[in-house]
Amino acid sequence: MSNTSEKGVALITGASSGIGAIYADRLAKRGYDLILVARNAQRLDAVASKLRTETGREVTTLPADLNDKADLAKVEAVLRDDPNITMLVNNAGVGSVASILQADVDAMEAMIDLNITALTRLTYAAAPAFAARANGTIINISSAVGIAVEALNGVYSASKSYVLSFGHVLQRDLADKGVRVQTVLPAATATDFWDVAGYAPQKTRPTTMSAEDLVDAALSGLDQGELVTIPPLHDGDQWARWEADRRAFGPNFGNAKPAPRYNVA
Ligand code: NAP
Repeated sequence: MSNTSEKGVALITGASSGIGAIYADRLAKRGYDLILVARNAQRLDAVASKLRTETGREVTTLPADLNDKADLAKVEAVLRDDPNITMLVNNAGVGSVASILQADVDAMEAMIDLNITALTRLTYAAAPAFAARANGTIINISSAVGIAVEALNGVYSASKSYVLSFGHVLQRDLADKGVRVQTVLPAATATDFWDVAGYAPQKTRPTTMSAEDLVDAALSGLDQGELVTIPPLHDGDQWARWEADRRAFGPNFGNAKPAPRYNVA
């Protein structure tokens, strides 16, 4: 039996495979106990029992379909009510490579429900609890296509832009409450994501990162205090420049009159 973790408990969504399963491995090895969420109970159990054996940590599985309102409410309640939870990794997500002329709108709505609505509701459940204890970390998995939006399906890219924007404002709202928020932007990573998204060959392309390298870099970014971590971006200053330009827009929007180029009398 493990001792109660000093690090507390990390709740990870989408922990049955890919990036989420690697977060589970790395966080258990860092001393966190875990609550693992995904739909496939069998795959969750396999991840959990391996980590219990390898790390001695306490690992609980919480099978839930985050597209199902009742299941989502169950996970929200755990985040609100379990005072041992110190970290939320909002990782569950699906993508697509289909254009608007190929994609089914119901599948797009389901993607919004998972990538945006579930992530938002889980964050809204965790943030007040973390703020009340002045202790907590929220890691939201966005994507490089949240910036390079033309690369894949538009709804997917927009859902990941949402995660990036949402993270900026969470950081503003929670910075002085003892709650850390990190937004992680993977680019192509070798997981089952690509089978679900409809382009399996991407998993073996030379520019595709392993999930292990992605998570190790993301956790290094967390340790370094980064707010936004983009493991595949080698020129980190490019992000810093773009972010400075974005933030500089704010005061420039404060004009009651339209810009002269619109010739409004
Ligand atoms: P993955 O291996 O397919 O993992 C997705 C995880 O989400 C699985 O554990 C899946 O488990 C879970 N999931 C899917 N639908 C769910 C639902 N309705 N309710 C609960 N859990 C659900 O893909 P991944 O690459 O690790 O994806 C993790 C995150 O990284 C996603 O947010 C994705 O958008 C992001 N990302 C991935 C890449 C990439 O190239 N792989 C790049 C940028 C960003 P079950 O099937 O058991 O439910």
